[in-house]
Amino acid sequence: MTVHNQSQFRSAGLLGWLGLGQRPSADAADEEASPPDRRAAGRMRQFDEIASFLAYHQLEISVRSLTIVFQYLSGEEPHLVRLIDGRMQQRLPLTLDWLDAALDAVGHGSEVAQMAKLMERLESSIDEFGKTSRDAHRATSDYNSALEAHVTELEQVTKAGDVISDLATIAKVMLNRTRDIEKQMLRSEAQTRALRKRLEEARRSADEDHLTGLPNRRAFEARFEEEYRAAFAAAEPMSLAFCDIDHFKKVNDLHGHEAGDRVLKLVADSLARLTDDNCHVARHGGEEFVMLFRGTKLTEAFERLEALREQLADRRLVNRATEMPFGQITFSAGIADVFAYPDRRSALKAADEALYRAKQEGRNRIVAASVEDGKCAA
Ligand code: GH3
Ligand code: MG
Ligand code: MG
Repeated sequence: MTVHNQSQFRSAGLLGWLGLGQRPSADAADEEASPPDRRAAGRMRQFDEIASFLAYHQLEISVRSLTIVFQYLSGEEPHLVRLIDGRMQQRLPLTLDWLDAALDAVGHGSEVAQMAKLMERLESSIDEFGKTSRDAHRATSDYNSALEAHVTELEQVTKAGDVISDLATIAKVMLNRTRDIEKQMLRSEAQTRALRKRLEEARRSADEDHLTGLPNRRAFEARFEEEYRAAFAAAEPMSLAFCDIDHFKKVNDLHGHEAGDRVLKLVADSLARLTDDNCHVARHGGEEFVMLFRGTKLTEAFERLEALREQLADRRLVNRATEMPFGQITFSAGIADVFAYPDRRSALKAADEALYRAKQEGRNRIVAASVEDGKCAA
């Protein structure tokens, strides 16, 4: 496959083509035309670029593909541009699956990074504020003690003339003012503490799934990245599992959404029982959970999860609001040896594909991913 010259695709911007924002620069032919004609010519040119890109890479025309190609050609998402350019330079095919994954990575990555940056900036402002108010507090306290000593000395001068007594009065006023300032400083310190607490709460809340109390997908991705690097550096094994409640829609349909929520929470609590320093459980979305077993080989992680699956499947749960039995609540899982795959994304895809097979093979079971799984994620 020949590599396209990227810049031939990315020119004046699709916004121009859409008649929004900057218009594409006029070329020789456009110079002759009136402004509406020029705009039309620009749009046609942009349209051609999109069409050539889609045709060249044999991509289907869909809202998704148009959005991605738009973001690439307009250069409005620089990270996506770099990813696509890199892929083309490596002469690897651009498939819709790959583009989807790249777009998700860009969207999610930048969201997480922005949030982290904001939190960091807020934290350093609070630190700065706290330090300033502590310094000021210390300075006024020192100043106060010195001033107080001088005032007492002045008052003790028995033969003090008018000037000295005026000075004593001024010093007293100053003393009172510095006391006020000191009180304000104490209030600022309290404010710093309150701000820090709020920031911690906001940080926790942004990482938590509110229904189950488990870490959410955002928190999981950050954790996975961190643990992946550490486990890789320490040459430790790592396993990853996706668990999905079986026929959960029926629970909602038969018992209502609130009862469904309680079942979801119960399964989350069961899975969370495996949580420790090396095992992380998170709600990945809907009725799906993701588990990371650091320092744990696939067979061991499989056994631990299998024991939990059996325990849950053996229980007979009842809807406490209606006394109606929920029947058997089970989950299926796909589990993968993370380092059997070239990167985190492929490992996630492999576990997801194994989960799909567990569902196909009858549910209420765990399937280990094969090396073939996750392949097309690259
Ligand atoms: P399968 O065994 O193939 O996984 O079948 P399923 O019914 O579990 O899967 P499906 O994807 O068809 O339906 C999932 C349902 O989970 C649909 C959705 O309404 C429900 N769901 C997702 N999130 C929540 C939630 O937070 N609370 C409740 N009550 N239901 C949820
Ligand atoms: Mg399900
Ligand atoms: Mg599901």
